[in-house]
Amino acid sequence: MILFFGTRPGKRRELPLAALTCPHCGQTGSLQGTVAPHFVHIFWIPVYRLRPMVWVQCSHCKKGYDGRDLTLEMQQALKDTGM
Ligand SMILES: [Zn+2]
Repeated sequence: MILFFGTRPGKRRELPLAALTCPHCGQTGSLQGTVAPHFVHIFWIPVYRLRPMVWVQCSHCKKGYDGRDLTLEMQQALKDTGM
């Protein structure tokens, strides 16, 4: 039997982080967080939800933040918006 197994991204959510200031350019209200869930699927049926991929981008200076680049404020704000 062939088992179709893999991971697939779920529906992305965009979260504007209006209260935050970009550490790179100092602009307030230009940061936007994106949360992309990932699922393990077997035969295209999602069976397990993995840790979502999260990143933040500044629309002013275009700098992206993810993983360790996320400041505590960013992490907190993403949590507050229901990540
Ligand atoms: Zn910026």
